Amino acid sequence: MAYDYDDQNVFAKILRGEIPNDTVMETDHCLAFNDIGPQAPAHVLVIPKGAYVNYDHFALEASAEEIVDFTRTVGEVCRMLGLRPGGGGDGYRLISNAGQDGVQEVPHLHVHILGGRPLGRMLQKG
Ligand code: AMP
Repeated sequence: MAYDYDDQNVFAKILRGEIPNDTVMETDHCLAFNDIGPQAPAHVLVIPKGAYVNYDHFALEASAEEIVDFTRTVGEVCRMLGLRPGGGGDGYRLISNAGQDGVQEVPHLHVHILGGRPLGRMLQKG
């Protein structure tokens, strides 16, 4: 089944410059910005500039150049935020929610980078 992309989602509006964002880093293919409702001292979202709904959509249809850029940007932001374990930081967590069970609110692929405090176990039971 084809992926339906809703171009009225909030991150599409950010990419079109229709609403502001707190940019941390920008590349040819990605934008990284602070989450508006941070859940940790460091909480940055990395999004591709292309119209991809979620990770599996991106993995299927993005070009190799986009995938490399996205992957490197996530790593670069972790380093920029000073989170790199063994590199002056105490670590981080990457999360990419998809669909209903993933409780994805914004239907444009994004990776959450979280850090700056102990984050606890990965999931709560139930
Ligand atoms: P998710 O549940 O993975 O789709 O999370 C969406 C995230 O986007 C949440 O953490 C929100 O706080 C964040 N968010 C929503 N609107 C904005 C915005 N305008 N700027 C920055 N972050 C936003």
